[in-house]
Amino acid sequence: MGSDSKHIITALQRLAMFWRASQWLVAKDFALNPTQGEVLTRVAAKPERAVDLADMLGISQASLSDSVAALDRKGLVRRRRDPDDGRARMIEVTRAGASLAERMPDAPAVIQEAIAGLAEDDRAGLLRCLSLIIRSLQEAEAIPIQRMCLTCHYFRPHVHTDPVRPHHCGFVDAAFGDGGLRLDCADHETATEEEAARNRTRLSAVG
Ligand code: SF4
Repeated sequence: MGSDSKHIITALQRLAMFWRASQWLVAKDFALNPTQGEVLTRVAAKPERAVDLADMLGISQASLSDSVAALDRKGLVRRRRDPDDGRARMIEVTRAGASLAERMPDAPAVIQEAIAGLAEDDRAGLLRCLSLIIRSLQEAEAIPIQRMCLTCHYFRPHVHTDPVRPHHCGFVDAAFGDGGLRLDCADHETATEEEAARNRTRLSAVG
């Protein structure tokens, strides 16, 4: 491994340490643990099937069930039958859960300010590189597949000549740049393996 790769790994470790510590601080403020906090914010955005939620968070069904049961006891979420699949359960927020989720910060102010302080091009480049790293981890089955542009049927990387907006989203039929790459998009439609491989090759080849 080259020394630049080692420095990148050190940087990621530092950020991960900061993130873990801040998750526990936020959780403590809201009397939740970090997984419960994640489940609550996910279902506050949109009701999710239990099986999908576990996949998205990269946790086991048993661990998800424990978190949902704890949130249920606190009156923050409830389970209901999935109208499209009688055997599946949807998790949704209660009014109290929605109100708590609204007050929970997306991320600590200090990291939001640090990211906002980067130049626009740097933020876009960072998002592109992080998307590619996340995709590599998914391909290695180290983390679950996410609803990201790189795995989306609608994604067309580098099809436009405009260097600011070289990519195309077929869902909204619009061009966009690296800064618009999504990691969790509600309009995502899973690409075939060939499409996902092509997306990755094109995004990484033309930097
Ligand atoms: S639908 Fe969403 S995930 Fe798919 S290309 Fe468009 S923005 Fe990206």
